[in-house]
Amino acid sequence: MSLIKKGNPLYGPAKLRCPRCHEGKLFKTPTFSYSKPFEMPERCSHCGLDYWPEPGFYYGAMFISYIFTGFFCISFVLALHWGLGWSTGASFAALIAICAIFFVYIFRLARAIWLSINVRYNPNTVDHDTTSISNRYGNS
Ligand SMILES: [Zn+2]
Repeated sequence: MSLIKKGNPLYGPAKLRCPRCHEGKLFKTPTFSYSKPFEMPERCSHCGLDYWPEPGFYYGAMFISYIFTGFFCISFVLALHWGLGWSTGASFAALIAICAIFFVYIFRLARAIWLSINVRYNPNTVDHDTTSISNRYGNS
């Protein structure tokens, strides 16, 4: 049983699923397999949503990642240093270890949030346009 159900705007980012149908996966491999960590399919396997609506679309996700990481790093180090009395060096060493482990997850979460901001939940819509990215943008 999950707290967040399909149809909730948080479902897509929480499960790293397509924001429109909440079915198709946003990434080809499991997050913590660290295999092909940044590869996304061109389209949703369920509803056909274009995961790459325009060149540079995911620049917006970088700002989400930056904001999230910035606040997390500050609060994490302050909690260890002032809350638990760890030394500054130990606090930063723990931070670097945590960031190394969760780097891929934060990257994927930021992209999922950005896509969810731009695409509404609408499980009845299916795209049949199968034009590949390379054809649309004139790359060969
Ligand atoms: Zn979909």
